[in-house]
Amino acid sequence: DFTSSYFTMKESDVVEYVKTMLDCFKKDADLSCQEIGDGNLNYVFRVVDHKTGQSIIIKQAGPVARISDEFKVSTDRNRIEYEILRIQYDLAPGLVPKVYHYDAVMNCCVMEDLSDHRIMRTALMNYEKFPLFADHITTFMVNTLLLTSDVVMNHKEKKALVGSFINPDLCEITEDLVYTEPFFDCPRNDVFPPTIEFARNELWKDEKLRLETAKLKFEFMTHAQSLIHGDLHTGSIFVKPESTKVIDPEFAFYGPAGYDVGNVLANLIFSYLHADATIEDLEQKEDYKDWLAKTIIDVTDLFRDKFMTTWKEKIKEPVARYKGFPEYYLDGVMRDTSAAAGLELCRRTLGIAHVRDITSICDVTKRARAEKIALTIGKRFILERENIAVGTDYVRVLKETE
Ligand code: ADP
Ligand code: MG
Ligand code: MG
Ligand code: MG
Repeated sequence: DFTSSYFTMKESDVVEYVKTMLDCFKKDADLSCQEIGDGNLNYVFRVVDHKTGQSIIIKQAGPVARISDEFKVSTDRNRIEYEILRIQYDLAPGLVPKVYHYDAVMNCCVMEDLSDHRIMRTALMNYEKFPLFADHITTFMVNTLLLTSDVVMNHKEKKALVGSFINPDLCEITEDLVYTEPFFDCPRNDVFPPTIEFARNELWKDEKLRLETAKLKFEFMTHAQSLIHGDLHTGSIFVKPESTKVIDPEFAFYGPAGYDVGNVLANLIFSYLHADATIEDLEQKEDYKDWLAKTIIDVTDLFRDKFMTTWKEKIKEPVARYKGFPEYYLDGVMRDTSAAAGLELCRRTLGIAHVRDITSICDVTKRARAEKIALTIGKRFILERENIAVGTDYVRVLKETE
């Protein structure tokens, strides 16, 4: 019975669920189901009708994080994910999966199967190029971030949205894992042994850095600027050459717009460090790193350009038209972008949740080198955030460090 109380479904339950609760498939469908989730928090099921080849995805929120049962996370995040996906689908057509159904008892949602796409982190670790990615992701970010802000939205409607997406449990995870724990010798950190001494000397002993992370944590908690995705790493992006789709917005809430942009940039840098450590052929290595560097520049600068163009087209708030205000506002977003990129580089290296781009580097010396570069750049992005504003700023810091 799926109507009285929540339980975590197994593959066989999901087939039953689809048959009794949904009308996506024909009555005589020959259904099978596989759990394909690889994330930390949820169960993702793929259901296929072998007669027609038709398929759907059901994502169910589990009661605790898979990574550690220390994290108790409200299953309400599945409602948030469903509602945000619908909002983003309208704001950024073609760039998020279609969602069909939400079930508040089972805490699951039903969405379009994107199995013809690949998870971007995996594809980049396989040295593949996606020439349209920078264009697609910047449209996604400008539309979802600027169009949900007070610049464009009716202020009362925006406040109502702020209220329905408070998301306290998932915000707490970010506040702890991103803004706090990586910057002291926290027992929950998970540091690669060759990196510990560097972390201690360059990060944990640095009071100036600690102070800046404290300021940033308070900005994250209090700056209800845009309806952000909140977890926009390359594992939340599906790609194929002609298409980009953003998934997994369960961390969404009203926060600083630059948080999303910075996460995309930091994860492209992880791909760059992975390529640097693992490609043997020098020509191929340089070619692929050049493509990633160009993509970092394009993401930053296309975001800036589209932000200003969309601002001019969609602005509703009169005072935001004052001379100098758009530049002031974008400067703030870019400063937050640099900080968020720096925080992501540090926390994925030292904190509890790593990225495969780095952990898959088998050679100990090469992995330690990649981690030192990530931490050095990460620290600079945080401390120098006032002066890291355009695409070439990111690549300059990267080249100065490697
Ligand atoms: P989590 O919140 O647990 O990280 P995700 O939404 O990131 O869950 O999904 C985990 C994995 O499930 C993805 O990496 C992908 O492999 C698969 N997946 C998720 N959504 C879809 C989808 N719409 N179509 C196909 N596969 C999906
Ligand atoms: Mg599995
Ligand atoms: Mg995920
Ligand atoms: Mg998730």
